[in-house]
Amino acid sequence: MSAAYPFSAIVGLADLRLALVLNAVSPAVGGVLVRGEKGTAKSTMVRALAGQLPEVAVVPGCRFSCDPASPDGQCPDGPHDPAIAGTARAARLVELPVGASEDRLAGSLDIERALTEGVKAYEPGLLAAAHRGVLYVDEVNLLHDHLVDLLLDAAAMGTSHVEREGVSVRHAARFLLVGTMNPEEGELRPQLLDRFGLTVEVAASREPRERAEVVRRRLAYEADPDAFAARWAHEDADLAERILRARTLLADVLLPDAELERIARVCASFEVDGMRADLVTARTSIALAAWHGRTEVTAEDVRQAALLALPHRRRRNPFDAPGLDEEHLDEALRDPEPEPEPEPEPEPEGDGPDGGGSPPPDADGSDGSDGSGNAARAPERTEAAPTSAPGTEDAPVEGAPTASGGGREQAAVAAAEPYRTRLFAVPGVGQGAAGRRSRARTASGRTTGSQVAAGRVARLHVAATVRAAALHQKARGRTGAGLLLRRADLREAVREGREGNLVLFVVDASGSMAARKRMRAVKGAVLSLLLDAYQRRDKVGLVTFRGADASLVLPPTSSVEIGAARLAALPTGGRTPVGAGLLRAHETLRVERLRDPLRRPLVVVVTDGRATGGRDALGESRRAARLLAATGAASLVVDCESGPVRLGLAARLAGDLGGPVVTLDELAADGLAGLVRDVRSVA
Ligand SMILES: [Zn+2]
Repeated sequence: MSAAYPFSAIVGLADLRLALVLNAVSPAVGGVLVRGEKGTAKSTMVRALAGQLPEVAVVPGCRFSCDPASPDGQCPDGPHDPAIAGTARAARLVELPVGASEDRLAGSLDIERALTEGVKAYEPGLLAAAHRGVLYVDEVNLLHDHLVDLLLDAAAMGTSHVEREGVSVRHAARFLLVGTMNPEEGELRPQLLDRFGLTVEVAASREPRERAEVVRRRLAYEADPDAFAARWAHEDADLAERILRARTLLADVLLPDAELERIARVCASFEVDGMRADLVTARTSIALAAWHGRTEVTAEDVRQAALLALPHRRRRNPFDAPGLDEEHLDEALRDPEPEPEPEPEPEPEGDGPDGGGSPPPDADGSDGSDGSGNAARAPERTEAAPTSAPGTEDAPVEGAPTASGGGREQAAVAAAEPYRTRLFAVPGVGQGAAGRRSRARTASGRTTGSQVAAGRVARLHVAATVRAAALHQKARGRTGAGLLLRRADLREAVREGREGNLVLFVVDASGSMAARKRMRAVKGAVLSLLLDAYQRRDKVGLVTFRGADASLVLPPTSSVEIGAARLAALPTGGRTPVGAGLLRAHETLRVERLRDPLRRPLVVVVTDGRATGGRDALGESRRAARLLAATGAASLVVDCESGPVRLGLAARLAGDLGGPVVTLDELAADGLAGLVRDVRSVA
């Protein structure tokens, strides 16, 4: 195996470097979330961190990395002899793949051996491996929900707990959580966001010289990894030593009352939730002082700590990206005036730290680069396009006004107020991740029966197992009190609950919709369905079509917030390439099937069905619909046609897609509930 890329050789990324180093100095800081586009070496840098972490002393042979000085009382490999001598090993960086199974993360209990051999056979998972080290999740925003729940539990308790049929194992699991994500692919749940001590925004440098240096070093590394690593070994060793020195100094660092009050003032001013922000900022300030070889926290430490610890904790609209207004920060950091201070002026929310502001000093001062690490980007706004000339493709006859009443239509029409929608489920029984939409075989649902266990038993059906074994007790020569169990007796529970699905919206944003002033109502409807999807723990995606083409505005994600933001900014107008929209949906589902094969899709097409653009637009849309239907994807068409002249094209499209059609009015849960048509609805 060739040498890993050295930590010190990474160009730029000063904020990330500092955040990682501070965590190495003081694990109490609580990890880092790295946000930014792909291809910024953020993963390389995180992986290189492992080499910079001080060694840990462990009990030899313990699979749970017990500290010989204070072994875990509940250690499954314990109890350990208190007199035992520890061995030192390198701190681990354990990677959690986003698609990992629950067993892989939390460990697996072999229930068969527990029952038939009476031994507690537990195979430790990644949480055990990461204890006293780093748990790294690349693309943490794509992590499955059930893994997120496990992770949050472990992070909150500092222990991991696995239980099956009354047999349980518990072990210590304290780790630094480091995650990277591309915000374009979806945001994190707020609870998970809060679990990261610090956040850092990274972007590739726009500075040509720095970019050239990145490439130069990368090429040198690829040509000869070992020689390259050897060239940087000195820097890495110096850094590791400095971290170790800072760690030793940590206990001696004083946080003066004035600085503690400054921290409290800043956190209060940014209206963060709870006290975690104050704690993390305090710990980060202390780590910073130690890192700089000082024994007292300064105002500058507090400022720098706040920049790292607060952006993701500031109370904000769900649609805002994390960020911190530096002017506001400096205002809050200022020493209080002697006279009673007036309330700080409420400032309009900024777009996050201004790239032109003063960047925090470099972590180690070794490379003069700046800027690349803290370039924050303003939330993306779709360019507002002019409305199309109405009446280019069909006569816009506005019959009944929309329920929401019409302002003049604009490029980005505001959505009508969301409402509770009916439940539209995918037919059949799936096996997807737990959720609240469609019927599914799940681990947590109610037991509906039992079956002979095939492979490893996940959920034992005790009564059925005892019944199966009872028949053979005489033949097996049972004499004592205990039941003689064999592998073949084991029955597992068949459980049924509900799964979350992938709800892929395919929304018509063309002129034929805008012309009828329907867009406000349409956006309100899609927003309502999005909120419903959030509550049902679905993934959502958004394809829109207008003008010449269709685009995937929101790749499938668990972040409904981004979906709502993209929807709000959606411009309308132009022709209606329904076929292109459906083909884009088809492609999106194909990719998603590879990523998350058990998650069944529900395609929600929102249109009036009046395909235009191209010679055979209607024929194209029908062919695309049949192609999509052939993949077995469930679908629903929301018919947006209104006015006295109705063509019923959406219904025909629904026929091709093999799914039901509903009108906008029929979406609401308390709307025309009796009118069910052929909808497979469980409202
Ligand atoms: Zn142990």
